Amino acid sequence: MRLYYVLAIACWAFFPNPAPAAQQQATLLKPSRVFDGEAMHEGWVVLVRGTRIEAVGAEDAVSVPRGTVELDLSGTTLLPGLIEGHSHLLLHPYDETPWTDQVLNESLGLRTARATVQARASLMAGITTMRDLGTEGAGYADVGIREAIEQGVIPGPRLLVATRAIVVTGLYNPKGAPELRIPKGAEVADGYDDLMRVTRDQIGRGADWIKVYADYRWGPGGSAEPSFTQEELETIVEVTNSSGRQVVAHSSTPEGMTRAVLAGVATIEHGNDGTEEVFRLMAERGVALCPTLAAGYSIRRYAGWRPGIDPEPESITRKRESFRRALDAGVTMCFGGDVGVYTHGTNVIELELMVEYGMTAAAAVATATSGNADIFRIDDRVGRVAPDLLADLIAVQGDPTRDISALRDVRFVMKGGEIFRR
Ligand SMILES: [Zn+2]
Repeated sequence: MRLYYVLAIACWAFFPNPAPAAQQQATLLKPSRVFDGEAMHEGWVVLVRGTRIEAVGAEDAVSVPRGTVELDLSGTTLLPGLIEGHSHLLLHPYDETPWTDQVLNESLGLRTARATVQARASLMAGITTMRDLGTEGAGYADVGIREAIEQGVIPGPRLLVATRAIVVTGLYNPKGAPELRIPKGAEVADGYDDLMRVTRDQIGRGADWIKVYADYRWGPGGSAEPSFTQEELETIVEVTNSSGRQVVAHSSTPEGMTRAVLAGVATIEHGNDGTEEVFRLMAERGVALCPTLAAGYSIRRYAGWRPGIDPEPESITRKRESFRRALDAGVTMCFGGDVGVYTHGTNVIELELMVEYGMTAAAAVATATSGNADIFRIDDRVGRVAPDLLADLIAVQGDPTRDISALRDVRFVMKGGEIFRR
């Protein structure tokens, strides 16, 4: 009897029963139109109760309980919170501090403190979920930041984190004199036993995704060349998938991409030199591409390129062409820009470039909402405006399916039913 009493108190303390849905305050959001993740609906409204969407549809079709608070969002488009597919919260723009200096000279405390500010900036820009692909030398700080956001300690997007990422011996930066042991921006592992252990270790320490570098600029003269063997990649994928998680591969070479696809990764990042053949293989196997257009674009800008004034650098032209090849081959596109290379909160640059390079604005917005939710297998929680999903909703001035830059003008941000920006 006494034990039961203690348990009941303890359970109440840790899992306070939320008020039944019928008693919770309901909010009716009244924008000019709703993009539900796939299509636009003029004149729709959305009823939110607690953390979830209760109803969505034409105003006369949604029954509104007494006492509901109405929010007038006229002039705006309401849409699912955006899902950034490739971020580095533990990095800040390379024109502020070069990557190597961030990894070697900035303390974990400094990097983490900055990351919390960057998480807030992301949320305020309408990013309600973010897949963060590697701390680049900041250990498992992403796991702690994810928990701080989940516990409401700091505002930020829901995070899917990769922790340290995995590279082969000899591959990754920073590099120095060959005699020195320089800390790397990722965890080194080779061969069957080592990869089994490291993959499981990262999972155990909190990784939601396992990230591998299937190639890198370690060829003669600094060319990008493959890293892990086919068998090594298959080992990583087998161990990761058996834990219910997926693998993401950094890859830009046709051979690295092919190995990664055949091994069974879920997404490929960058894909710069993907051939028609490789992109067709990706489309056949359902492997999505995060093209990270904004990363190369920003790095060229830091080197002095003025878009629209100077001639387009060859690397940008090549990237534009490879993006087009991927689109033509029917590859599923992921919205993932490598934000952190450029300023957190300016994620929309990637979507603007996707449109500039040949996607329709409507397709780009779908990619950033329902598309990424499907790819990341979180579509049972987020990515659409539909009953029972979490109320992760944003409102922007104008219509982003006509002009993608409307996503820059975020007027309202709700995450899990809580309003963060109005
Ligand atoms: Zn990256």
